[in-house]
Amino acid sequence: MNFNNVQFKTSFGRFDQIPKAERIEIAFSGRSNVGKSSLINKIFNRKQLAKVSQVPGKTVTINFFDFENIYIVDLPGYGYAKVSKGKKNRWANLIEGYLNDTTRKLNLIFQLIDMRHAPSKDDLQMIDFMIEKELPFVIVLTKSDKLKPTAKKLRMEAFKEEIPYFDDIEVIPCSAQTGEGIDKIKEIIEYAATL
Ligand code: GDP
Repeated sequence: MNFNNVQFKTSFGRFDQIPKAERIEIAFSGRSNVGKSSLINKIFNRKQLAKVSQVPGKTVTINFFDFENIYIVDLPGYGYAKVSKGKKNRWANLIEGYLNDTTRKLNLIFQLIDMRHAPSKDDLQMIDFMIEKELPFVIVLTKSDKLKPTAKKLRMEAFKEEIPYFDDIEVIPCSAQTGEGIDKIKEIIEYAATL
């Protein structure tokens, strides 16, 4: 697959606006500010494909990107404390609608977690949900460049205790800054796109 061959397609603010699945989809999920946009931009060698923002939780949309014969799906970042209840509900409707839609050809979800911290309550809820619904997912630990090797090791040990079924889940430390883990993510995308 040519990772330069990607293009923004559409944003949806409500689940009922999303057309029925036509293609295989690979989604990115994570709390707002986890580094999701930066990671997507890094994978596809683009500066502004996904919007990197210093102000978390601004828009609540699902964004679709054309990538060869599949869609890359950027799920709205969750868990930003300062958003209104209305916005939280919109988020919940969108993401739950999307993830509960069993007609979709959702071949893989990249679940992003900030490598520096324990998973949030929302992160754990997402993981439990994906396990319960038997949705295929891998965990991407973001911003790995911010930790020194010893701290990294300690955090990995801690994740083992914090994340259920950790040993059965593929976990990829990565950095949009150093490029750690990016090749691995590309390999997984290529594999999931042909399942
Ligand atoms: P999003 O809200 O999940 O899309 O997160 P963004 O991609 O907008 O990133 C949030 C903040 O974290 C920005 O200030 C980014 O520059 C920073 N950031 C994202 N990824 C990395 C990374 O891999 N390393 C470092 N050091 N900073 C990062």
